[in-house]
Amino acid sequence: MPIKIDPWGTAVPEDYAKLMEEFGIEPFTDLLDRLPKAHHLMRRRVIFGHRDFGRVLDAMLSGEKFVVMTGLMPSGRMHIGHKLVIDQLIWYQDLGAKIYLCIADLEAYSARNVTFQEAYRLAVDEYLVNYQALGLDLERCHVYFQSRSNAVRHLAYVLAKKVNFNEMRAIYGFAGDSNIAHIFYPMIDVADILHPQLSEFEGPCPTVVPVGVDQDPHIRLARDVAARFQNEFGFIPPSSTYHYLMPGLTGEKMSSSRPETAIFLTDGVEEVKHKIRDAFTGGQPTAEEQRRLGGDPDRCTVYKLYLYHLAPDDEELLSIREACKSGAMICGDCKSRAIEAMTEFLNSHRLERERIRAKVKKLAEEIYSPRGAKGF
Ligand code: SF4
Repeated sequence: MPIKIDPWGTAVPEDYAKLMEEFGIEPFTDLLDRLPKAHHLMRRRVIFGHRDFGRVLDAMLSGEKFVVMTGLMPSGRMHIGHKLVIDQLIWYQDLGAKIYLCIADLEAYSARNVTFQEAYRLAVDEYLVNYQALGLDLERCHVYFQSRSNAVRHLAYVLAKKVNFNEMRAIYGFAGDSNIAHIFYPMIDVADILHPQLSEFEGPCPTVVPVGVDQDPHIRLARDVAARFQNEFGFIPPSSTYHYLMPGLTGEKMSSSRPETAIFLTDGVEEVKHKIRDAFTGGQPTAEEQRRLGGDPDRCTVYKLYLYHLAPDDEELLSIREACKSGAMICGDCKSRAIEAMTEFLNSHRLERERIRAKVKKLAEEIYSPRGAKGF
């Protein structure tokens, strides 16, 4: 049975290998040797696949212009699972990429019933302030709200001329009672991805979209549509990279709507303690068995915290892994170490967020204002 991916669903795609084969996603490991300084998420195979990333890599290595397109849907609180995309954006920005950051308030409205007013508040307080505090320089990014971008809305309408309903239904599984805003929304997403290549922005150039594999339907559609409009706009098909979604602390999908699955960037010390203490691990039922048999880091959500965020140094990660497998470390101690590292990170992040908050709010007002030049 063919695999169906729903970008708005909650299921974690389990069989990634089958998915790669079915949708023609290439392994990222083939490119690792060519990367100037591979990000730890790349070295650790968290970023596992790509489409046409070689084109972006060529531009990166030769100092030519390339774009990274990304988006955020302001429909909930920002959690540690979202951070892995920001880590990648910072890496790309350091390597000279122009970052386009879309605030998907139209998507939040059509798919999650979030009002535009609430989407604005969430986008600024929950996302942009955190992005800047994490180290992404928003002033060097092209940030825009979908609902305020005439260029994106206009392009979406133009591109929709060559996409029909049967195709949308085959890709997204829309039913007869799907609302029209939601059915049209993927064209907005395609326009988001392709509009940096319009002549009034960067012109045709390599573009990469770093995504979880759940977003692949949008990428496939964008690449198909780019080819259909090659003559009119000279689009270069967008490239993409795919990362494993970070599992929730309970072992299910990490989700803003289930706080026990996620550590939010605004969580306090006590919340962090409780969540990590209660996290699902790959440990043995008793400390004695753990010492004798060792644990299984690959099944452990605490280990994933180290893998993705808390141990950027490879040697440190390896020593945690070995101590777990050999039984030299028991889960209680391992969790205490993770709590300490996470608390330290969140405390310094909190200070940085307060330091830059006013600046980000001003930037957001300029972008959202009808008179604002940036993002229009
Ligand atoms: Fe997970 Fe740490 Fe226990 Fe190993 S020792 S299973 S990494 S919590």
